[in-house]
Amino acid sequence: MKKYILLLTALFFLSCGGGKTDQRFGLVIHGGAGTITRENMSAEKEAAYRVELTAALKTGYAILDNGGSSLDAVEAVVRVMEDSPLFNAGKGAVFTGAGTNELDASIMDGATHQAGAVAGVKTVKNPISAARKVMEETWHVLLAGDGADAFAEEQGLEIVPNSYFHTERRFKSLLKAKEKEMEKHGTVGCVALDKHGNLAAGTSTGGLTNKRWGRVGDSPIIGAGTYASNETCGVSGTGQGEYFIRSSMAYDIAAQMEYNEKSVKDAAQAVIDKLTERGGTGGVIAMDGKGNIAVPFNTEGMYRGFYMNDGELTVKIYKD
Ligand code: ASP
Repeated sequence: MKKYILLLTALFFLSCGGGKTDQRFGLVIHGGAGTITRENMSAEKEAAYRVELTAALKTGYAILDNGGSSLDAVEAVVRVMEDSPLFNAGKGAVFTGAGTNELDASIMDGATHQAGAVAGVKTVKNPISAARKVMEETWHVLLAGDGADAFAEEQGLEIVPNSYFHTERRFKSLLKAKEKEMEKHGTVGCVALDKHGNLAAGTSTGGLTNKRWGRVGDSPIIGAGTYASNETCGVSGTGQGEYFIRSSMAYDIAAQMEYNEKSVKDAAQAVIDKLTERGGTGGVIAMDGKGNIAVPFNTEGMYRGFYMNDGELTVKIYKD
């Protein structure tokens, strides 16, 4: 009889999802949106981007596949892209008009709604890890400037001289931008969904080329450049941060899902349509708790990719 009761209890738990295997998991990433066309891309450059985006996706997928958290996956993936000089985050960050590199990053846990961010850091090798430390080791959400750099050092994170971020390619685009007043995108971001159904999102950037020193964009602003809630979706944005801040773009996607019952695809497209209407450029990656993905953008291209447990690893750059 006892055995029979045990068996029934086990069957009950299994039917309630105790042995659930249908939870999708995986991740979606971006490496910035902008004037990215086949015409101005060489075969070598395109191949290099594909290699880095693939490596980032594989890093995150391995963590999730081993039962790791979406938060761990997001941090690890963003670190891979921060360490690559190809992206405007960490090494390879764009320059301020004053010829320095000032970095912004944020991370959010969709299960707890905890978040952390750093703005204007100059010596933290991996700003995404500093953002996570702010979330986990302080009662604050956002630390900025020298205080953020000092905090990262106290936490034992790797510290580098500001010249570490200097790359010739980005310095040249500063010089070009000074002549033409043009902007350059290239932020990185990741949204992950783990086997436990938890969403997390993170974003890291050097900001916009030739930005005024001290300028802070949307990437470290929760609700503007990054947002995550298990109740709706995870979001990371890239583009002209001022527009993202003014429209609370990342949170707007979640809000449209929550209040208007829109799908993640419709909600994400709606905020990009609004961005276009308001004269801004950029894109977002978003994923809901079921693993549905949206990657809309209004620029010519956006470095992006996704890798879900029931699909192929996919990397895309152009509109088509
Ligand atoms: N959104 C970033 C910023 O405004 C830049 C980018 O995504 O390219 O700082």
